[in-house]
Amino acid sequence: MGYDVDRFVGAVNEGLLCCICRDVLEDPLQAPCEHAYCASCIHGWLVHEEICPEDRQPLIQDQLRPIFRYMRNDLNQLTLHCSNRAAGCLEAVSLEGLARHEAGCGYGRINCPNASCRMELERRQLDAHLQVCEHRTRVCPRGCGLTVLNSEADSHNCVAELRTEMELLRSEMIGRSEDQKHEMKLRLDSQRTHMVDKVSEMQQQIDELKRQVDHLQHDVRLLSALERKRGQDMERLELEKKELLEVLKALKEEHELAKANTCRITAL
Ligand SMILES: [Zn+2]
Ligand SMILES: [Zn+2]
Ligand SMILES: [Zn+2]
Ligand SMILES: [Zn+2]
Ligand SMILES: [Zn+2]
Repeated sequence: MGYDVDRFVGAVNEGLLCCICRDVLEDPLQAPCEHAYCASCIHGWLVHEEICPEDRQPLIQDQLRPIFRYMRNDLNQLTLHCSNRAAGCLEAVSLEGLARHEAGCGYGRINCPNASCRMELERRQLDAHLQVCEHRTRVCPRGCGLTVLNSEADSHNCVAELRTEMELLRSEMIGRSEDQKHEMKLRLDSQRTHMVDKVSEMQQQIDELKRQVDHLQHDVRLLSALERKRGQDMERLELEKKELLEVLKALKEEHELAKANTCRITAL
């Protein structure tokens, strides 16, 4: 929404009005067709439409641009009344300087800055109010260092207040150390669980290794028994071979003898 035309001093050029709300442009943007609108007005329009509301030419968000510099300058130099005119502010300022003026305008409404005070008042009345505000505070003049409500300054008892403050701090500290104890216990518990898991995992690995060693020992025993048996077999074979050789030798001698005898008989 733009600025109400009635707030302006003198006539406003038609070209500086929003095509949608017909007020003076606020945060202006313009379309490729050079029609200009307040940012909030055109954004609201383009939610449901994809055309310029003035001449119905196609238009989407991405095509919106800042207005021409000369229009910007013309806008900035328009003079208008402060929005607190009804409250009594008679200031008329340039559109460019409006925000700065209104941020400090004595007729603008503000809340009392004292915590817990609900008073709403005009800015120019603040100083007087702060003098009497029931919720104003000050540092204790008797030197305890606490901040006290002005209205309670007389009944304020430094020692009693400090004791209360100390009790508060003490219970806060106890609470905090309980929290820490609890957290430590949780952490220890989780570490313990972790270690138990680790130990049982290691026990499983040990059992597995033992099983493998038993297996290997069994294999070694089997192999050495086989080796022993092979040695005995070899020995036996060697003996048999020797016996056979002797039998062969004896047979050969017998044969030679027989041959000799045959020759002799033939000769006779
Ligand atoms: Zn508008
Ligand atoms: Zn247009
Ligand atoms: Zn003002
Ligand atoms: Zn107040
Ligand atoms: Zn005190």
